[in-house]
Amino acid sequence: MLTTNAEHRPLRPATSLVHSGTMRSPFGETSEALFLTQGFVYDTAEAAERRFKGEEPGFVYSRYANPTTRMFEERMIALEGAEDARATASGMAAVSSALQCSVKAGDHVVAARALFGSCRYIIETVLGRAGVASTLVDGRDLDQWRAAVRPETKVFFLESPTNPTLEVVDIAAVAEIAHAAGAILIVDNVFATPLQQKPLELGADVVIYSATKHIDGQGRCLGGVILSNQQWIDETLQDFFRHTGPSLSPFNAWTLLKGLETLPLRVAQQSANAAKLADFLAGSPKVSRVLYPGRADHPDAAIIARQMKGGSTLVAFELAGGKEAAFRVSNALRIVKISNNLGDAKSLITHPATTTHKSLTEEARAELGIGPGLLRLSAGIEDGDDLLEDFERALRLA
Ligand SMILES: *Cc1c(COP(=O)(O)O)cnc(C)c1O
Repeated sequence: MLTTNAEHRPLRPATSLVHSGTMRSPFGETSEALFLTQGFVYDTAEAAERRFKGEEPGFVYSRYANPTTRMFEERMIALEGAEDARATASGMAAVSSALQCSVKAGDHVVAARALFGSCRYIIETVLGRAGVASTLVDGRDLDQWRAAVRPETKVFFLESPTNPTLEVVDIAAVAEIAHAAGAILIVDNVFATPLQQKPLELGADVVIYSATKHIDGQGRCLGGVILSNQQWIDETLQDFFRHTGPSLSPFNAWTLLKGLETLPLRVAQQSANAAKLADFLAGSPKVSRVLYPGRADHPDAAIIARQMKGGSTLVAFELAGGKEAAFRVSNALRIVKISNNLGDAKSLITHPATTTHKSLTEEARAELGIGPGLLRLSAGIEDGDDLLEDFERALRLA
């Protein structure tokens, strides 16, 4: 398997994402093969016995591992700089598996409260039912993380940048607090993408992705991945993963492998478009606030400079005219589509207060900075000037 260049240095991301992890069959196919198979056959009963005992390498059953799925995992391992990974059927399968395998009744979890809605459900409701207590803190306030620690705290969990207001948490500082408390830090790195932020290098123990977002990046299939060190995968995740079955389908793994090949091209174009639109929106009198991690006026600019490369593919902005203005602008956009998804080749806009965050109370939304005029834009790979013209026209109606 190709993992280094001619000088034996690790491959740079753009090269690695085209080549890493590829396993070729005896046919020597150029593209990664799609092994759409549930099981595997053995030459002899003795070989089957050895395979099950783990004395011989090879695949046993696609709930555990599959060649196409393994190629996707290997490519993600190379990109993230992790020791091992398990691919999952969705981002939420990754979040719920990583959390559930790490705790038991009586344990305690601390999480930043600016969470993707389903992550909040796993922490408060699913873990709560299993007897795991949780505390939600303002992720940017390090004292709140410290104050939340109890003797039984096992896991810290955070997203950065957050959805939808693109707040940034100091990952290295939170990792230090977690480790001092004897807990592990799990980071949901979806918004940053594996190219713009490396949580493991910042001290996180486990990183998870919804591969549904930038990794597929073309709006086709769901997927997820959990990355960590070998010991955590072997001792904490492995049995949980095998027996509960959150596995990624080989077909989706194949689609995601193709997505990874173009990830650097897409993220660069999306981030350039996002930066251009953020600057335009910041200059409009109809817009009261722009939150973009690539702008110097972002409230967490100092942390961003330390822990992120590049801006972001997402922009959050607030219209002075409130919900009515936000709806008028969304409806007037022609190229940008209204959708709650993100990371897609197509530019997508969503009104969090009435869609992704509608189940929160108004006070909880206000606490997270989700006002009635807030819109979240996921910039696509279209020509930036077409997007700019789309916004210029739409904002006249705001
Ligand atoms: C989308 C998303 C998820 C869930 O991923 P699915 O693939 O939809 O299950 C989790 N965390 C974040 C930050 C997300 O954006």
